[in-house]
Amino acid sequence: MAEQENEKPQHQAVVTNSSLAFFEKYINNPSPTGFEWKGQELWLEYIKPYIDEYFVDNYGTAVGVINPQAEYKVVIEAHADEISWFVNYITSDGLIYVIRNGGSDHQIAPSKRVNIHTDNGVVKAVFGWPAIHTRSGGEKEEAPTLKNIFLDCGCTSKEEVEKLGIHVGCVITYEDEFTVLNDRYYVGRALDNRAGGFMIAEVARLLKENNKQLPFGLYIVNAVQEEIGLRGAEMIAHRIKPNVAIVTDVTHDTQTPMINKIVQGDLACGRGPVVSYAPAVQNNLNRLLIESAQKANIPFQRQASSRSTGTDTDAFAYSNDGVPSALISLPLRYMHTTVEMIHKEDVDNVIRLIYETLLNLEAGQDFRYIK
Ligand SMILES: [Zn+2]
Repeated sequence: MAEQENEKPQHQAVVTNSSLAFFEKYINNPSPTGFEWKGQELWLEYIKPYIDEYFVDNYGTAVGVINPQAEYKVVIEAHADEISWFVNYITSDGLIYVIRNGGSDHQIAPSKRVNIHTDNGVVKAVFGWPAIHTRSGGEKEEAPTLKNIFLDCGCTSKEEVEKLGIHVGCVITYEDEFTVLNDRYYVGRALDNRAGGFMIAEVARLLKENNKQLPFGLYIVNAVQEEIGLRGAEMIAHRIKPNVAIVTDVTHDTQTPMINKIVQGDLACGRGPVVSYAPAVQNNLNRLLIESAQKANIPFQRQASSRSTGTDTDAFAYSNDGVPSALISLPLRYMHTTVEMIHKEDVDNVIRLIYETLLNLEAGQDFRYIK
């Protein structure tokens, strides 16, 4: 029996040329975990016209607020930090060994160009790697690990390196910048999860431009330090004490080689936002997300997670006395590489889904299972 495949709903674009220009600038600015403040300043500057007030905390989490007087508080959240490296050891002949700051990938490091952030500004360096000719032939090839990858900044002694302003503890980011592929994918480093910061800011823009009055306080949270264990979210959840939290982060597209769908599920860029099933996700809030997607004709996909979601959702859910929390993920290819890819339509649709869910949320809404 031939069944008519459901027609894909007509796509509604949300991102404008000027918001895209902000996104590009925001992505190209480095925002390493623990050192996010320049990115946070850019983000606040963008979001200010769309909010009533804002505040920041001691570690740099930035929060835009709409209706600050309201008692019932709803958070929409993303994380602002970018995985990076730390200078860990400078050799007497001027090479630099590194440790991770977040889940940086040793396998992709060789031959990448980097920026070392010093008090005197950026110093350029490269991850060197022995030539194919000089690696001992015939044997099993040595793979890149933290023990053998190193930076070369063009110096031949430790003193020279130090003269450039480099010291143990300087952070290192990649040079790679924002590009667009086939007018379909945004490509860049740390779209995980600065795409999220961009999308929640776009929600604020839509609320303002469409003149929507929310019956609750909206806290648009761009949290720091997610990549090292959801730390920024933990801090700010305690401070805001929200009634509801809707978190956005990225998840793995599983359509490219060497990914096992039996383990990772079947998720694809271009098929829409991903809603999650996990103990930390509050089911009644999740239902509201799904109904909002269905009502507004927004395509979506489903993902299940054992235990935690591994996102700031967990930090909000298990904060205070337990905050009803849910996760809207953006499918992404090649996570934690410098060529992370996300689909333009998914970006629009995550923004729309958060926006529509907010419009369906009531002040004082009680999400408890048993009343
Ligand atoms: Zn990440």
